[in-house]
Amino acid sequence: MNAFLIAGNWKMNGSGVSSHSLASQIISDIEKTPSLTDTCDFLCCPPHIYLLNIVGLADNSPLLVGGQDCSTETEGAFTGDISAPMLADCGAQYCIVGHSERRTIHGETSQQIAKKGECLKESGIKAIICVGETITERKAGKALDVIKEQLKTSIPSGFNAQDFIVAYEPVWAIGSGEAASPEDVAEMHRDIRNILKEMVDKGDTIRILYGGSVKPDNAGELAGIENVGGFLIGGASLKADSFLGIAKAAHDVLS
Ligand code: PEP
Repeated sequence: MNAFLIAGNWKMNGSGVSSHSLASQIISDIEKTPSLTDTCDFLCCPPHIYLLNIVGLADNSPLLVGGQDCSTETEGAFTGDISAPMLADCGAQYCIVGHSERRTIHGETSQQIAKKGECLKESGIKAIICVGETITERKAGKALDVIKEQLKTSIPSGFNAQDFIVAYEPVWAIGSGEAASPEDVAEMHRDIRNILKEMVDKGDTIRILYGGSVKPDNAGELAGIENVGGFLIGGASLKADSFLGIAKAAHDVLS
């Protein structure tokens, strides 16, 4: 089975200097505690403009580097967009697609997300496909229906188990300081696992990340939940201390 993935989504934060120093600090902290890599893999997703620098820095280190999004197209007249082949060319190994901020702020549909996933697969990049319900949907008892629909429509039909991972990120938990309860995480991850097993051969091997206000003090409990294969971390990934604190808490539970 895969190691537990500690993935940081840096979003649109930082500068060239600060992202360089954050990545250097993360690499040196991991190297100071090499046993962490027995249980955890590490990934950071910096703003695309800093990707090439961070890939250079992370070369020959335990830190993997990924993109935060990609275009639905591979090349052409798409001003401002970044294609999957460009991300691969810069050394990205993973790419987040369908983050709730893309779905909400940019109005992205699951069909577009699936198209992005296909471009990533063609470029040899593993897609991190995000799904998550809003608080209104959860309160209406529709969380599972929403997640099922997002999975069925966002995962490209030609995908195999090794082409992607899923990140379950309840929208109301992102950046709110309030993570989902361990009971809700356990239930939803079990349901997602069952859906993946129905959809994809070897669906039981696909990592399912949890995202939404993960911090060092809740990471241990969340990491111990069955079918939680890692974390997608926003705010707490912007400081090496908290990013590594999450990894250490997960490591203590998993080792
Ligand atoms: C995210 O944006 O994917 C996220 C999980 O953010 P945070 O950890 O800040 O809740």
